[in-house]
Amino acid sequence: MIDMHSHFFPALSREEAHAADAERAPWLAIGPDAVQGEIMVGERPFRPVYRALWDPEYRVAELDQQGVAMQLVCATPVMFGYAWDARKAADWAARMNDLAVDFCARHPTRLQPLSQVPLQDLERACAEVSRAQAAGCVGVQIGNHLGDKDLDDDQLVDFLIHCAEQSIPVLVHPWDMMGGKRMKKWMLPWLVSMAAETQLGMLSLILSGAMERIPESLKICFAHGGGSFAYLLGRADNAWQHRDIVRKDCPRPPSEYARRFHVDGIVFEPGALKLLVDVMGADRVMLGSDYPFPLGEQRIGELVRSAEFLSPAQRRGILGENAREFFGLKQLALAA
Ligand SMILES: [Zn+2]
Repeated sequence: MIDMHSHFFPALSREEAHAADAERAPWLAIGPDAVQGEIMVGERPFRPVYRALWDPEYRVAELDQQGVAMQLVCATPVMFGYAWDARKAADWAARMNDLAVDFCARHPTRLQPLSQVPLQDLERACAEVSRAQAAGCVGVQIGNHLGDKDLDDDQLVDFLIHCAEQSIPVLVHPWDMMGGKRMKKWMLPWLVSMAAETQLGMLSLILSGAMERIPESLKICFAHGGGSFAYLLGRADNAWQHRDIVRKDCPRPPSEYARRFHVDGIVFEPGALKLLVDVMGADRVMLGSDYPFPLGEQRIGELVRSAEFLSPAQRRGILGENAREFFGLKQLALAA
């Protein structure tokens, strides 16, 4: 199996983070047992985490137990730094990317890194994504928005065009979730806003007409099964048919663009996976776990392995072959 959606966070000291941005740079407080830890932002605890997040040896041992041959590793979104001064953010992204390459370097057949970029600065983002790719990253992860700018923003579209021209695969991950004070409790930002953020990113690209400008060669994948996108695509098509303001910038029905997107398959429920496969196509769904976080799939690949409606070829595709194709991993021998 290839798991294409997992996160890491480097063992950054408080001092190192404070030197980058005292208020906003995240760092890691590792507990006395060296297994439990806490991501910190400034002096504020952000998220409890455990050793697999920062220790590649520990992670590979867990992947052995899970039967995962290869995992793609990307930043935890709190590392993005999109709101910082662009020069600081560019230095930070380069440092994080070097750490991501280091994290994977001892297990090249098991771990492969995705980069991050200073998305607030187009020139620096393009330079860093190309540098990081040359340094060993196999794609780039970006957040689904940049403050008030969604993926239809010219700057973000130009970044995606750069990735298409350079053949750099893109994973779009929701972050900085909408809803504000109404989403404070019960992990609602993860349960409600994340799905909407992802759908917003996809519909922004479609309804703005940006997909007409972006080369067909762009490889772009949306996390968490594309959030609400597949379930509500019919609603978007209906709106396109019946309201001119929806058609204004978008020459074709939204569903015609769905074939240009990939998604991961982390939807937790067989009926949801079947819908996702029906809407996106079995060749455009890839195994992703969100490991090592508690809202990820705890037995990686279990949903796909047990999905009776998938043909053996579809199952093989989702469990690994689609990701090999998408991320250009064919030259890498897999451990299992
Ligand atoms: Zn994730």
